Amino acid sequence: MISERVTPAARPDAVLALWRGTVGKCPNCGKGALLHRYLKVVPNCSECGEAFSHLPADDMPPWLTIIIVGQLLFGNVWYVERHYDIPVWVEMVGWPALGLILTLLLLPRCKGFVLALLWIIRRDKAEPA
Ligand SMILES: [Zn+2]
Repeated sequence: MISERVTPAARPDAVLALWRGTVGKCPNCGKGALLHRYLKVVPNCSECGEAFSHLPADDMPPWLTIIIVGQLLFGNVWYVERHYDIPVWVEMVGWPALGLILTLLLLPRCKGFVLALLWIIRRDKAEPA
């Protein structure tokens, strides 16, 4: 059900729209969900009716997730190896588990961020200031 329409003049600025996308909300109104079933893009916002099915996120969200998780793990593995003496089996189990958890947590956020970025680019192209 579409409860309200956000007029072009009331559109959010880029930072707010990116934040909304990152937390999985519609970049336009911030109320409706952007994703459902973990990574599926909703065709339209349930609150404002904004269309999202035409935004081609492609491989950017997984790449962004890999870059972030890789940086987080690399720094922490290096620090722990230099400063602590942890049994090898703990590291063999712990680091991959941490990598998997971080990946599963960050992937939908990265997808929301990329979708919001694409939405902003298309919006600003369609509506020059
Ligand atoms: Zn919306």
